[in-house]
Amino acid sequence: MGKKQVRAIFPGSFDPITNGHLDVIQRAVGLFDEVIVAVGRSPHKNQLFSPSECVTMIEELIKDMPGVSVESFDGLMVEYAATRGATLVLRGLRSLTDVQYEFQLAMTNRAVAGIETLFVMTSEKYGFVSSTLIREVASLGGDLSNLIPENVQTRLKERFGR
Ligand code: ADP
Repeated sequence: MGKKQVRAIFPGSFDPITNGHLDVIQRAVGLFDEVIVAVGRSPHKNQLFSPSECVTMIEELIKDMPGVSVESFDGLMVEYAATRGATLVLRGLRSLTDVQYEFQLAMTNRAVAGIETLFVMTSEKYGFVSSTLIREVASLGGDLSNLIPENVQTRLKERFGR
């Protein structure tokens, strides 16, 4: 019998991608045959970069990672996962406060679509990193070199003209 191939989807806003997200993706490379990073838009988050800009930045970062690809999607994540043949949702966990929201989200996705969610704990180095704070600190000119990849830093500097 052939080995079952597992294609996971890693959905998020990634606005912009941080070292925390990248850490989760790197851990996932060894766990699944394929990982699709899926850039979606959360209706209640302020947008800095367009989905296609986020996809471009992620493409630059994953180009040497085997089995990892990136796409953007509209609409319901679980429907998109089904059309792409993904049978698992991957999410990152930073802290106990993430767990409450992520638990609800995972249960909802399982109830509406029967899809399972697996969680990966990020490196403790990035446990406090959020895209929302990255956007704020970048807009005020702070140095984020330890928290985000270089290509993202460059884009943020361009965006904020610093
Ligand atoms: P969403 O709007 O769907 O929460 P995000 O881009 O904020 O999108 O997050 C996508 C996924 O990455 C979520 O599972 C989130 O918990 C996780 N994540 C965000 N920041 C980090 C981090 N610093 N370390 C690990 N996982 C993270």
